[in-house]
Amino acid sequence: MVGTFRNEPVLDFTVVENRKKMEDALAYVQTQFNREYPLRINGEDVKTGKLLKSYNPARKDQVVGSFHKAGKKEIDLAMSAALKAFEEWKYFDPEERSILLLKAANIMRRRRFELNAWMVYETSKNWVEADADTAEAIDFLDFYGREMLRLSERQPLTDTEGEFNKLIYIPLGVGAVIPPWNFPNAILVGMTSASIVTGNAVLLKPSSDAPCTGYCLMEIMEEAGIPKGVLNFVPGSGSEIGDYIVQHPKTRFIAFTGSMEVGLRINRLAAEPSEGQIWIKRVVAEMGGKDGIVVDSEADIEAAATGTVAAAFGFQGQKCSACSRVIVDESIYDEFCNLIVEKTNELTIGDVSDPENYMGAVINKASFDSIFKYIEIGKKEGKLIAGGEGDDSKGYFIKPTIIKDIAPHAVIAQEEIFGPVLAVIKVKGMDEAMKVANNTIYGLTGAFFSRNKAKVARAKREFHVGNLYINRKCTGALVDVHPFGGFNMSGTDSKAGGSDYLQLFLQAKSISEQL
Ligand code: NAP
Repeated sequence: MVGTFRNEPVLDFTVVENRKKMEDALAYVQTQFNREYPLRINGEDVKTGKLLKSYNPARKDQVVGSFHKAGKKEIDLAMSAALKAFEEWKYFDPEERSILLLKAANIMRRRRFELNAWMVYETSKNWVEADADTAEAIDFLDFYGREMLRLSERQPLTDTEGEFNKLIYIPLGVGAVIPPWNFPNAILVGMTSASIVTGNAVLLKPSSDAPCTGYCLMEIMEEAGIPKGVLNFVPGSGSEIGDYIVQHPKTRFIAFTGSMEVGLRINRLAAEPSEGQIWIKRVVAEMGGKDGIVVDSEADIEAAATGTVAAAFGFQGQKCSACSRVIVDESIYDEFCNLIVEKTNELTIGDVSDPENYMGAVINKASFDSIFKYIEIGKKEGKLIAGGEGDDSKGYFIKPTIIKDIAPHAVIAQEEIFGPVLAVIKVKGMDEAMKVANNTIYGLTGAFFSRNKAKVARAKREFHVGNLYINRKCTGALVDVHPFGGFNMSGTDSKAGGSDYLQLFLQAKSISEQL
């Protein structure tokens, strides 16, 4: 028996012991910076000699790890190993697969500070955010482990005389797991563990910007006792080997989280059968967002401003759920703008290995340049009231930026920027607020602040997002508390961390036996 699922509590870094452990972990991880990492295929090291380097965004010349890159040959090798392993893994007692995840969760608890430290260096995620990322990864392992137990129980069916009927869930085959860099632990672990616990075998291609945490999962799974070939670690450039993995005739499903552009490409390529392919590939794609917070005339303005600033600038605005547009009623517009500027100017920015810094660097040079392009566009589309400056001399730092008086269809009100840039849009009344809230191609998260119950009820009906929050910020979803995933161009409508998620990695087989 396993106990009921509970979310892993996050650490309090004001506690001296936690602070000390985190400092020790940061010091330890620094000693590991010069490591060269192999691919892991069929439980063995594979080296290609072609290296991919992962850098610290806060110290742009600091190499955090060097990874041997997979080419087509290694993908074929990993596919063969996975296909072979699948033949046994698919018949494993689901309980054994669940136990593997629960063991992995415990190992992750033991390595928690170290994992946090990898994220601090590799993605410039601050201590608190890094720890929340690890807590979420542990939650996925604990939750999906329990979910598989539930799905392997006898499923309810209507009886028919003279027959014994049952429905069982069986795995799909070999899947490609392709995560982004921004939740290098949680999202990578969530998609991988869901694939594995359901009996599939996996080719895991981590993001090129954050492969270290992916390698840690590989080590953790091996320590927990995963059979050879069930999980294969194949880092490499998405633009070089992504299409090959997606189009491989033996790829049965693709679990992807990342940008809309790449997600749509994967969806399109996967839809076209390759030679020798005998199934329709399943694509689970969680993609971008242009998430808005609506602040009504009857809102608690202080709470709305606090929530907006946290959702817009936490982890430098690099969350798919980040608030990048705030839609504010004209009656409170000036007061609200003053408040968010005041709160934003209090944010500290710098290398987040120092816990005094709240915001770190953005992920890389391409991202720094792209965000600045949007800031320049925004300055023409509205009025800059905070930030607008950056410094890439040591790392990719951008001040939290707010641009007000933005029209609802302006570029910075519509396109995902994925950085610390907030567009403020003025509206008049509830009708216009709802219209603007829904006027993008995305539909991931949103928040509505108001004390008026009728308006709250209307927002619940009309605000078309996968995750809607009332009178709180639009980031910070918890596993099985806020099952997570968006509508429209934000993805394939899946809900990570929810009770229907594992079924995306399974197919149901109905067996009827004459008595
Ligand atoms: P990305 O550029 O789309 O990359 C995501 C992954 O796809 C990476 O592993 C990347 O590999 C790989 N890739 C690139 N080209 C590929 C191809 N042709 N075929 C197969 N794979 C390919 O996204 P990102 O910059 O890592 O992440 C940020 C994006 O993720 C944002 O849009 C954000 O909104 C979204 N996101 C969504 C959610 C959600 O739940 N909806 C959660 C988190 C993030 P390389 O790294 O080697 O290029």
